[in-house]
Parts: sequence; structure tokens; C-alpha cells
Amino acid sequence: MAERNAGPSHRQPWNDPGETPLIQVRNVTKKFGDFYAVDDVSLDIFTGEFFSLLGGSGCGKTTLLRMLAGFETTSAGSITIDGQEMAGVPPYRRPVNMMFQSYALFPHMTVANNVAFGLRQEGASAAEIRDRVHAALELVRLAPFATRKPHQLSGGQRQRVALARALVKRPKVLLLDEPLAALDKKLREQTQFELVNIQETLGVTFVIVTHDQEEAMTMSSRIAVMDAGKILQVGTPGEIYEFPNSRFVAEFIGSVNLFEGEVVENAQGRMVVDCPEVGTKLLLDRSIDVSQHAHVAVAVRPEKMVISKNPPTGGEAGFNLLRGKVDEIAYLGDMSIYLIDLPGGQRIRVTAPNLTRRTDLPITWEDEVFVSWPPFAGLALAG
Ligand code: ATP
Repeated sequence: MAERNAGPSHRQPWNDPGETPLIQVRNVTKKFGDFYAVDDVSLDIFTGEFFSLLGGSGCGKTTLLRMLAGFETTSAGSITIDGQEMAGVPPYRRPVNMMFQSYALFPHMTVANNVAFGLRQEGASAAEIRDRVHAALELVRLAPFATRKPHQLSGGQRQRVALARALVKRPKVLLLDEPLAALDKKLREQTQFELVNIQETLGVTFVIVTHDQEEAMTMSSRIAVMDAGKILQVGTPGEIYEFPNSRFVAEFIGSVNLFEGEVVENAQGRMVVDCPEVGTKLLLDRSIDVSQHAHVAVAVRPEKMVISKNPPTGGEAGFNLLRGKVDEIAYLGDMSIYLIDLPGGQRIRVTAPNLTRRTDLPITWEDEVFVSWPPFAGLALAG
């Protein structure tokens, strides 16, 4: 998975105490009747970020986006964009533009006129409109389609018209509600990279709503994971994947094996969790702030586990070692997924890259196997 801001050469304004956020959300709540759609959310988004609000259906992400856009009022809290308090500021006076999931193109207008629409309403001169529309269509590689109508375009092209129309007004912030939802998988992947390139070219801040964790991982500088109106964690894709702060985030992002157990040793840089249900002690090279005997879950990603028919050599004896039986194998070409049943009844998932060209898998159904992993692979979760 790509992580865009991982390298030291990339800006990480959120780690710079001197940097002022472009968008400041402070204790924002949105109630519909007695129902809290967004519940006391605080968030900073910085200039030039590609920021994703990620969560399942009904978690409140669209409502939060609509409050940034001004289509929804807040029940409590404040939103500041570019230093200006947004309470009472109508959508068209905010330094933001929103691209809707449905694209909302005018069917009777050409591509160029769709893109020009907002500029005409602002009263821009004909020459300026022509230049800016052309530049926007060049940006989304649609200049040759300027005279077509929306029904003469593919889904991906319509999506790019909507993007050009939103960008032509040069907003400081572009809000995108599930921008790729209408595209098929292949086109969606291509378009993800295009969106990122366009965003980087323009330096506009993007805030996007998505329920698709892979999409969020591929495109974002940072992700806010939401559930039931709350933000559970904000971090770079790498932070969210490698260091989820709760069981919910660990399970929502990618696949994970969770082992419930009791902390029997917890010192700086070394933690041992006894997991009687799977019949082993787990050794972690990272401790968390919990007391002895606390109940925790240890999260281990499937790709960090090693599957073998023979007992693994090396490692600290007696730790991080499971035995089980292969129940399912999914061969995906580039890798295989093994579902392994443990004697205690738990089922775990292990993935292994297919590094050699062979179609007969070295491990097959019903095989008794060992599964092991190094101490760095596990992460203890108290929440
Ligand atoms: P989805 O991905 O399904 O669009 P979402 O995370 O974007 O989900 P929201 O649209 O923000 O969710 O809705 C959050 C909750 O608030 C939902 O339970 C929804 O039913 C409720 N809700 C949203 N708008 C209204 C409204 N106008 N009146 C009453 N309830 C609403």
C-alpha cells in the first residue's frame, strides 16, 4: 500500500507545532432530534493535505463534510477555515467547494459549459472563463471532449468533468463525497492516482469521505477513522495500519488476528501476554501503559506471520508459536491466504507471497502447520 507522506522529505505539518491548521474543527456536534450524528469531534487539517474521513455507513462522515461545506449547521462547537469562523457563513461564501457523489452535471450542457457554469455565475469575463475552463479540462485530460454532453462520456470521464468544475473556481479546500463510488474497480484504482497527482499539482487541500479503506490508504496524507459519530484515530496510513489504537481500528483497516489475553510481564520494550485460549504466550517488543494482569488483545497482521510445516527455528522458545490445521486456501496469484483453525476453535488468517513460479502449493488443505511471528509483529490493544 502506498503511503505518501512517510518519507522524511515529505511535509508533515501536523507534526510542526508552529504550523496553523487550515481547518480547525472544535468539539463539533450535530444532532438530528435526539440522535448524535457527529459527537464532539475535534480535528485539524493542514494546507495541502489529502485528508480522508473513513468509516462505515452511518458513522457521520458525510454529515461532518456537509458541515464543513455549510450545507448543514452545527448543533455545538466551532469550525474555522483559513482563520475565519464559519458559523453563519453560507456555502457560497466559504473558501471551499464540494464535489458530490452523483457529480450533479447538467445533462443538456456541454462539458465546457458544465465547467464554466460557476465562473459565469460569478460574473467572470468571457476571456477569463475560456482560459480557466481550458486549463481545468487540460488538468483532467478532457480538453478533446469539451463539446460533448455528459451522456456521451464514460463514468470516469464524467467524474473528471465534475472534478474540473469543482477545481475551476480555485477553492482553498475541495470537499469530495465518495468521489469514486460510481466507478468500477479498475477505473477506481487508476483514478485514485490521478486524483492524487492533480491534488499535488495544484496544492489544493482535499477532504474526502470514503468507506473504502484501501482507497483511503492509497490516497491520503492522513486518515480520520470514524465510528458512531466519533473520531477514533487520526494518523498517516502507516500509523493507522501499523499502530491502530483500538480493536475497532485494527479490524476496520485491513485484516488482523486478535488474541485475547492477560498481561503477565510489562517492562520498557518487552511485554508478555498469556493467551490460554490459543495455548501460547505472546512476546511483544513494545509495551503499553497497562497494569499487570490487565486484559488486552494482541493484534498480529496476517502478512507478518510465517506459516511452515516444520517447527520454525530461531525466535525465543515458547513464544509466538501456534499449531493449527489449514482449513481454507485462497490462491490469489501474487499471494495466498491461509485460514487456519487452532485447537481452541479460533480461526486465524495468514498471508504468504508467492515468490516462486509454481502452481503446486507447498502447504495444502488439512495440513498440520506451525504459525510463528517475531516480537515486533504484535501490538497490544487495551481499547
Ligand atoms: P454513508 O456512508 O451511509 O453515507 P455516513 O457516515 O456518511 O454514511 P451520515 O450521512 O453522516 O453517515 O449520517 C450519519 C447518521 O445521521 C446516520 O445514522 C443518518 O441516518 C443520520 N442522518 C443524516 N442526515 C440526517 C437527517 N437529515 N435527519 C436525520 N438523520 C440524519
